[in-house]
Amino acid sequence: LSFKLTILGSSGALPAYDRHPSAQLLEISNTQFLIDCGEGTQVQIKNFAGSVLKIDHIFISHLHGDHYLGLMGLIFSQHLFKRDKPLHIYAPKGLDEIITLQLKYAKSTPAFDLVFHLINTKASEVILETDKITVTTIPVIHKIPSVGFLFKEKIKERRLNKEKLPEGLKPEEMVLLKKGEDILDEQGQILFKADEITLSPKKSRSYAYMADTRYTENLNQYVKEVDLLYHEATFMEVDREKAIQTLHSTAAEAALFAKQAEVKKLIIGHFSARYKSLEPLLMEAKSIFNHTELAIEGVTFEIEE
Ligand SMILES: [Zn+2]
Ligand SMILES: [Zn+2]
Repeated sequence: LSFKLTILGSSGALPAYDRHPSAQLLEISNTQFLIDCGEGTQVQIKNFAGSVLKIDHIFISHLHGDHYLGLMGLIFSQHLFKRDKPLHIYAPKGLDEIITLQLKYAKSTPAFDLVFHLINTKASEVILETDKITVTTIPVIHKIPSVGFLFKEKIKERRLNKEKLPEGLKPEEMVLLKKGEDILDEQGQILFKADEITLSPKKSRSYAYMADTRYTENLNQYVKEVDLLYHEATFMEVDREKAIQTLHSTAAEAALFAKQAEVKKLIIGHFSARYKSLEPLLMEAKSIFNHTELAIEGVTFEIEE
């Protein structure tokens, strides 16, 4: 089953050099999650990923414009496309007011339910749980209330080992075995041991999105050993003062964070408009954490099962 991340926007506060503000599309087992929705996101979805109608859950990290100004356009398009499924939006306090006000003056009522889920930005909380995944917030450090998001697959079922499977097993016995439970006979004696005729589950994959944040080692407890980490790297070390003032991070800091958290792969993004070439940022990060890649729009990062 799929687990892949497509970069839709990689720029910091200003669009620059064909780079768009923050947006990413995460697909897990054919369900699509939109993370941040900067200006132009719906156009980027069309360019790289297909249809906005497939998205049922949108996660907004904070209310700086470069992370949500594309939302109204996207909502309005879904209305025109006659979406009928609910659209869930997870965001810090205020976004519901902003959107409701725009709809009020447009005298528009969307053809579908718009469901706002208020995020508590002060503590880490589970904000979405499905049968396959959980989404947990990460309270990051920024100028206004802001969170990151951790997407994690739940522990999967054990797999039946076809070579060792006895004949004549009933479907309900297979269900038990996949849950790791032994099959007992009528006297309560073990007939088949689950760990002898099943294989361990496939691994649970994880992705963490560290939205706009000042680098802080304390936060890496939330993203320990994730398969894929996105960490903003607005600036380079030469501009570290600027990063401190604006509560952003440098490429070196993002890499240090990834190293401390022992993640498998790091993607850096949210690049300042002051850098035309991104190669120096990549070099800076790689000198500390080699498994680093740039968030390039249109590129998809896939985690194998
Ligand atoms: Zn930003
Ligand atoms: Zn910001």
